[in-house]
Amino acid sequence: MVEVSGGCHCKAVRFTARLPAGPVPALDCNCSICAMTGFLHIIVPHSDFTLKSGADALASYRFGSGTAEHLFCSRCGVKSYYQPRSHPEAWSVNAHCLDAPIDLAVEQFDGRDWEQARAALD
Ligand SMILES: [Zn+2]
Repeated sequence: MVEVSGGCHCKAVRFTARLPAGPVPALDCNCSICAMTGFLHIIVPHSDFTLKSGADALASYRFGSGTAEHLFCSRCGVKSYYQPRSHPEAWSVNAHCLDAPIDLAVEQFDGRDWEQARAALD
């Protein structure tokens, strides 16, 4: 495992996460919100993620089933991590919000056909 750090643009929101060594699996989702925000998902178990600062800066947005909790910084607007619907036991961290680039193994996720795409992950 390697520890990485990241956060939002204005640095109000800061976190660390423990990731597997080597190329880290990342999901490139084409759903309505990920396409707009350019979010690149790294799934991190809740126990491997620590929010260092910014809990009070986070604003929340829900749509559709309301299961996912989209979190974004209320100062700079950047969504650095959030609670995805696909992995209730994990956060999804935005690979674009890490302090240093890491080696990624990017896979496409067809979020426009969510049920089928989620089933294919198992
Ligand atoms: Zn911010």
